[in-house]
Amino acid sequence: MGELIQLTSKIDPKFNIFIVTPEDEEYEQFKEVFKTHGLAYTDLNSKIIIIDGEALDRQKYDSMELLHFIISHEIAHHKLKHRGEYNKRQEAEADLLGIKLCQKYNYNASAKIGIKEFKNRNGISLEAAEELYGNRLLGLI
Ligand SMILES: [Zn+2]
Repeated sequence: MGELIQLTSKIDPKFNIFIVTPEDEEYEQFKEVFKTHGLAYTDLNSKIIIIDGEALDRQKYDSMELLHFIISHEIAHHKLKHRGEYNKRQEAEADLLGIKLCQKYNYNASAKIGIKEFKNRNGISLEAAEELYGNRLLGLI
């Protein structure tokens, strides 16, 4: 995947993060994955994150700011050791930890996007999620 846009995150520089766009040959093969996973996909067994560059451009937020929240959310899935089918609880936990990691590593505008979209994405308020899942994040930030 030599020519794809590649970037790194201060949260964990060991992650290989790629943005695929329709101009890339590989886009077709990832399209199906994006259909089920949304804007981004991560393989939970390797430190690889693939982001849908086309969908990213269609969002209402600054691409780089949104990008770092998405990356943080995906890294959070790894830190939380999520496995198997994605579910609402795992998504809420990843958003919660993703926000906190963005804050820690000074992706403050990205953290704000996560906070603003939290209820919309997860169906519960950030406060309620902290109450329910906050203890899962201990030692991970
Ligand atoms: Zn997720």
